[in-house]
Amino acid sequence: MASKQVLVAGAGLVGLCTAYSLAREGHAVTLVDKGRMGSGAARGNGGEITPLQALPMPEPALVTQLAEGVISNRHYFTIAPLALPRLTVFGVQFLRNCTTGRLKRNTAALDQLVRGAMAAFDSFHRDGISLAGGGWGYLNVHSDPEALRVYREAQIERARLLGIEEPGPILSRAELEEPLLREEVTCGYRIPTERYIDPDRFCTELHEALEEMGVNIRPHTELLSLDDTRATVRTGQGVETIGFDKAVVSTGAWLNRQLRGIPGLTFSAVTPGTGYSFHAEMDTLPRTLTMGLHRKTLIVPMSGTARVVGLMDFGFRVERFERHRMDFLREQASQFIHGLDETPISREWTGPRPMTPTGLPYISPVRSHPNIIVATGHNMHGLTLGPVTGEVVSALVSDRDPGIDMRPFALPRF
Ligand SMILES: Cc1cc2nc3c(=O)[nH]c(=O)nc-3n(C[C@H](O)[C@H](O)[C@H](O)COP(=O)(O)OP(=O)(O)OC[C@H]3O[C@@H](n4cnc5c(N)ncnc54)[C@H](O)[C@@H]3O)c2cc1C
Repeated sequence: MASKQVLVAGAGLVGLCTAYSLAREGHAVTLVDKGRMGSGAARGNGGEITPLQALPMPEPALVTQLAEGVISNRHYFTIAPLALPRLTVFGVQFLRNCTTGRLKRNTAALDQLVRGAMAAFDSFHRDGISLAGGGWGYLNVHSDPEALRVYREAQIERARLLGIEEPGPILSRAELEEPLLREEVTCGYRIPTERYIDPDRFCTELHEALEEMGVNIRPHTELLSLDDTRATVRTGQGVETIGFDKAVVSTGAWLNRQLRGIPGLTFSAVTPGTGYSFHAEMDTLPRTLTMGLHRKTLIVPMSGTARVVGLMDFGFRVERFERHRMDFLREQASQFIHGLDETPISREWTGPRPMTPTGLPYISPVRSHPNIIVATGHNMHGLTLGPVTGEVVSALVSDRDPGIDMRPFALPRF
């Protein structure tokens, strides 16, 4: 295989994994990011690698929840009313994907990637990427036994479809033997097949591995525009061009800006779905990652501390931090985890999930510019699907068949 000059723009989860896969295949990679390596939504997220639970977000039950998010800002979702006009195109397309039929079709498409997710992590791990800072297993808890039963039934069906071990039985709070759970939690069950890692460490290790492999790493280098063979970037020293055989655009929730100059592509391909996290200095950590399904809030024992993660704010501003939303996240977590309301917290963080109307990522050459490949839009699953996306993009760059039907991942057009 002939080695190609490949520019990867955006060194978040997808860009880092893609640069790694490409360098491992012998391509000459230049990796640029407008900030440091692993910015955007890459480092402060939940660290979940969850094949069983990686599903497209648009689904029938969501329509009511989204409406609630417009009315109240004390909800998992919020949509700023002022942002509604700018979100119309995205919103209409998103709602069209909330039917049972579309969900089934989109899930089947996403499962093509999901099936390769764990193997792709394993192959990174075999090379020496540690996947450390987390553990195995996933505890789903709820206040409503019937709601939990229905949720688990769907996961059993899915485990059978994917051919993986089924979730464990529903247990009472006492049987779960997790002293941190408060009284409002009545029940829960464990999923043995899911795992979690420290994404901050994962990004740092990938960065170090890329340095060792001789990748040309350029932080604080912002992609401004692209044509067939050259990218224009802005650095601290000014504007310059970088030539390439292939360019991969993995700029996450910022993607629309790069698509603006390319004729025929929609300008609202992604919408930021901002999430929040913070660290709690707890004396006792949860035994495993614990998801309060009734509060859509996650607490993760991570590298010796506890990270609390949640919320989804739709808007048009990619970078935003709302104090009251961070406080709401803490309040939500404190309702089902003992001691969180008094514990000192640190590392407050916010990051933009690159949300798409179908819930599927874009992994696709640009039709009018086949040397440019877009790889982003992984919604809530950019860590779970990062390494497998890297492998698919590497196949596309190397003119190999990626072995999956790529049509569902094509970029939207006007
Ligand atoms: C609160 C929260 C919790 C989450 N939990 C999980 C989880 O547990 N498991 C999971 O799988 N996923 C999770 N996610 C989702 C995951 O973080 C995203 O799907 C993932 O980060 C998307 O990867 P990306 O590379 O496309 O974008 P990002 O990781 O955001 O990276 C984009 C990069 O592009 C750079 N960039 C932007 N514009 C330019 C430009 N013009 N030039 C150069 N560089 C540019 C940015 O600086 C950034 O580094 C979570 C997200 C959030 C917010």
